[in-house]
Amino acid sequence: MTPNIKRRFFSNLLLATFIILTSCENETQTIDYEPNYASSLDATNLPSGNRPMTMFEDAESPSKMYNKNDRWFRVNQPLQIIQKGKDSVQISLYSPVGLTDVKIYAKLGNYDKRFVLYHFTKIPAFHRSTHQIPLVAGKNDYLLETGNTVTIDKIDGFSTGAIEFSIESTDPLFSKFKKIKSSQLVQFNDGYHLNEPNKFLPMNPVLAKEAITMIINYSYALSHPMYYDTFIHFDRYKQEQATLAGTPVSGATDWHGNTADSNGVYDYFSKSEIEQQYLKYVDNRTLWMAMVTGASALGGGNLASQWESDYITGHWKGEMSVWSHEYSHHTGYNHDSNLANSGEGGGQQGMLTDFYKYLIYLNDLPFTDPEILKGWTKTSYLSKIYSKPVFKIDPKNPFLLKYKGEGKWN
Ligand SMILES: [Zn+2]
Repeated sequence: MTPNIKRRFFSNLLLATFIILTSCENETQTIDYEPNYASSLDATNLPSGNRPMTMFEDAESPSKMYNKNDRWFRVNQPLQIIQKGKDSVQISLYSPVGLTDVKIYAKLGNYDKRFVLYHFTKIPAFHRSTHQIPLVAGKNDYLLETGNTVTIDKIDGFSTGAIEFSIESTDPLFSKFKKIKSSQLVQFNDGYHLNEPNKFLPMNPVLAKEAITMIINYSYALSHPMYYDTFIHFDRYKQEQATLAGTPVSGATDWHGNTADSNGVYDYFSKSEIEQQYLKYVDNRTLWMAMVTGASALGGGNLASQWESDYITGHWKGEMSVWSHEYSHHTGYNHDSNLANSGEGGGQQGMLTDFYKYLIYLNDLPFTDPEILKGWTKTSYLSKIYSKPVFKIDPKNPFLLKYKGEGKWN
């Protein structure tokens, strides 16, 4: 922001007239003013001036999804609002299902109330469009979140960050997005398959849509109170498993770190350290999603990867074991820790997989219907033939046995 623009911005705000209309008990005292709000927008039917487009169309060039500056989102913000220049915003929905009734609020630095900048009746799946900030166009009335009206004079432009955007929606899918605690930044990185083609394969938009669907679901699962409770009390979970099997607890009795095990001695985390490990899974790091060849899946640093089959059909069936393992490498654990490995009597891989399947069973994930993407039907973008994924829960699933159909996140 140049000093010149900043001065102009603030002096304009000082001159702006804020007319707050409060509702009155007494009819006769009501100010005779009919607010004139901007009309609602339907993003399925926008004029070309808004440059509407669908991201990740099947035939879109993969170079677009690999452009990390243009295609990125945080898992807790699948609907992304970014200011472009000093007078426009870009909205992008990284979701395989659209949203209805979305209010985008703005808050200015020197005015403490949020007001509705745009109201979208519909935003379709993977939509992107650009919109002029109405404040730049002229003097307008805006609906405050209190239900009152504010009138704001024309403001010539905004430096980046001068408007704080926030989103509200009555759509049940949006309520699920709001529950996601993780704020990891998801991108696709072509460096892996370009530099190590023997280990990695290029992805395409058909696969990217599946990857985005899966990472939103997985991030929701990690954020789920039942998962947190099981993670924090993994020793209890292990005991329950042993009791069900009628055997003593095998291997480690609780979470332990990366020190190599020796003769049944583990570097156990304390309960407060376990809480810290949980927070690492739902932090704000960058995640580069990639796809591996037939050999082994890989994870570590920003990377987590798995096979084409897991992106296309596995995650719909709750087969999240490989993903959990690679994501744990991404979170900093090696094969000596039961947070990454399934050995020594079972670790996070098995627990997460059973938990994820239980959430599909409860229909308690943002997306549980493979028909929304139909990835398996898009054979020209896949290396082999898949059949439609069909989910089935094992009657011995430990979460099903314990919670018996209860525990949906309200
Ligand atoms: Zn590994």
